[in-house]
Amino acid sequence: MKINEDDLKLIIENVLDKIDRNEADLKKPDNLSTQESKRDGIFSDMNQAISAAEIAQIEWIKLRLEKRKEIIRCIRQAILDNLKKISVFAKEETGLGRIKDKVEKNRLAALKTPGVEDLAPSAYTNEYGLTLMERAPFGVIGSIIPSTNPTSSVINNGISMIAGGNTVVFNPHPAAKRSSNFTISLINQTIVKSGGPKNVLCSIKEPTIDSAGILMKHPKIRLLVVTGGPAVVKAAMDCGKKVIAAGPGNPPCVVGQTADLEKAARDIVNGAGFDNNIVCVCEKEILVVAQIADKLKEEMKKNNAYELRGEEIEKVTRLVIADAGRPGHEGAPNKKYVGKDACLIAREIALTIPEETRILFCEVNREHPLVWTEQLLPVIPLVRFDCIDDAMDFAVKCEHGFKHTASIHSRNIAHLSKMANMMNCSLFIKNGPNYSGLGFGGAGYSSFTIATPTGEGVTRARTFTRERRCVLVGYFRIV
Ligand code: NAD
Repeated sequence: MKINEDDLKLIIENVLDKIDRNEADLKKPDNLSTQESKRDGIFSDMNQAISAAEIAQIEWIKLRLEKRKEIIRCIRQAILDNLKKISVFAKEETGLGRIKDKVEKNRLAALKTPGVEDLAPSAYTNEYGLTLMERAPFGVIGSIIPSTNPTSSVINNGISMIAGGNTVVFNPHPAAKRSSNFTISLINQTIVKSGGPKNVLCSIKEPTIDSAGILMKHPKIRLLVVTGGPAVVKAAMDCGKKVIAAGPGNPPCVVGQTADLEKAARDIVNGAGFDNNIVCVCEKEILVVAQIADKLKEEMKKNNAYELRGEEIEKVTRLVIADAGRPGHEGAPNKKYVGKDACLIAREIALTIPEETRILFCEVNREHPLVWTEQLLPVIPLVRFDCIDDAMDFAVKCEHGFKHTASIHSRNIAHLSKMANMMNCSLFIKNGPNYSGLGFGGAGYSSFTIATPTGEGVTRARTFTRERRCVLVGYFRIV
């Protein structure tokens, strides 16, 4: 497989780093002895992992909050020190995405995932006394991790959940188990080195759908957090306990006639091309007002987008769509091309395009399967509309009611407001690439678990805690 130049540079730098610093083998989780595995939180059996996490939780909540904060500071630093290594590892293992973008995702998760500060208590006082509201841990959380963010989701969920006083048992995606487990081990080692207990994060060496089932049904798991497609969300919902589910999306991006087209085009290419479109929030279809459609396309082409035409569209669609579904319903992408570079996809239809091409886009009609399918690859459909109201109405339909992510480029505040209201999504981005909704070039904290079907939205430490109220009657109003 041909690797893009950016990625190649990072792979070489990473290898040189390793030689220079004589660092541990990237395959470490596979080579660990049983004893070491236990220290690192990687077990061969799911039940053992859950028991270890239960013991660890008792120790973890005994630590003073200042200590918890200090350990989380050390975790952030350990991730930053290993950014290239874990990013290269995730790409090498899964074959998905782009290393440069994975570095940004992991950096974002390390730096912008809220910690203990997110749990600030609040109080009410009046003539009846003092009521204190505090955030308490659930206990042991079961967390199911996707292949598309195998390291950034571990960092993000890991920090948020332990900040809330929980410990976590992960079931990584089987195709991403080594990079997820490496990240889990790294965090565990950092916790132990910083004076915390072992096994605060646990996982198993050979995760499967069956081990996910054990995790979901285990009585010691108080809360399930699942990040993935419709099947895992349904499986978790069916198991009868509290679930925070981060499901699939199909984010439409509307472009209106008042948009700054140069910026909109740049943002769309950067956003839709980010990590080759495997991030759930990435722009998946462009819905543009006819009056400015040609200009938008020209501007996109100036920003490393290639427009597919005629037969090229049919050939690429046949290649990347495994199940065309039917109009109004989702199909399925061909997994072979999920997360692959635009140039690789182009080569498969004997099309030579510049190496720096980030996305392929194609003008199609409303029924086209690329519009209705969460493709998770850098082939983006573009549909023309007579007016922005039609584009917005259509955006609601092709988002499938996931209430995940949508975006608009417009300088008409009435349009910005109308679409935000109509979409009713957890994330709505105006005049920026969709990834700015994750705090990457946009204000706010970061998360890689956007809880859509269960409604918690962009998750954070407080999402993974229980609210507790403690009431003192008659005293302690002291003003
Ligand atoms: P996937 O659904 O194939 O797998 C996700 C995880 O669920 C994996 O660990 C997998 O082993 C497990 N799993 C799958 N089916 C299961 C079942 N029936 N029972 C138990 N476990 C099961 O998804 P993926 O390809 O790894 O990730 C891409 C999908 O995840 C996309 O749909 C994307 O939108 C979604 N996603 C959503 C968010 C979000 O924040 N909402 C974040 C990342 C990814």
